[in-house]
Amino acid sequence: MGLSPDDIEFERIRDHVGHNVVAVTYGSPPVAAAIECATCNEVLYNVDRPSMQTLRPMGMWQYLLVVAGVVEKQIVASEDLKDAIAELAIRETAKALQVRMAELPSDHADAWQYLVEAAHARGDVSVSLKKIAVLQLGERTPPAAE
Ligand SMILES: [Zn+2]
Repeated sequence: MGLSPDDIEFERIRDHVGHNVVAVTYGSPPVAAAIECATCNEVLYNVDRPSMQTLRPMGMWQYLLVVAGVVEKQIVASEDLKDAIAELAIRETAKALQVRMAELPSDHADAWQYLVEAAHARGDVSVSLKKIAVLQLGERTPPAAE
């Protein structure tokens, strides 16, 4: 008759009755914690600290200027900077295509459309301005020490 996992757990603890059982942590700051029997120098139970890293999804604007298949310029901006990045995208694209700003329609959307078509006509330049989803790696704030 074999021992069930519960039997093993029971035996594992009973073997240390009357011993010096202690709780310890490893690392500074701690990355793992364990219940150990100091008498037998045996780890009875241990657990890793949950990861302190977080991945936060965010929407970003991305401007990409590709010349002859190579990324010449890439600009990203937070969602609230839509107007600013649109203006920058127009300026950078006009420069790359050697189009004078004065030739462009004054409306942002029209100017951008004009430049996209001009880039397309040239063939070796491609530009895009779009919203992308990125995951930002951060550190979870540990609970404040008492
Ligand atoms: Zn023990």
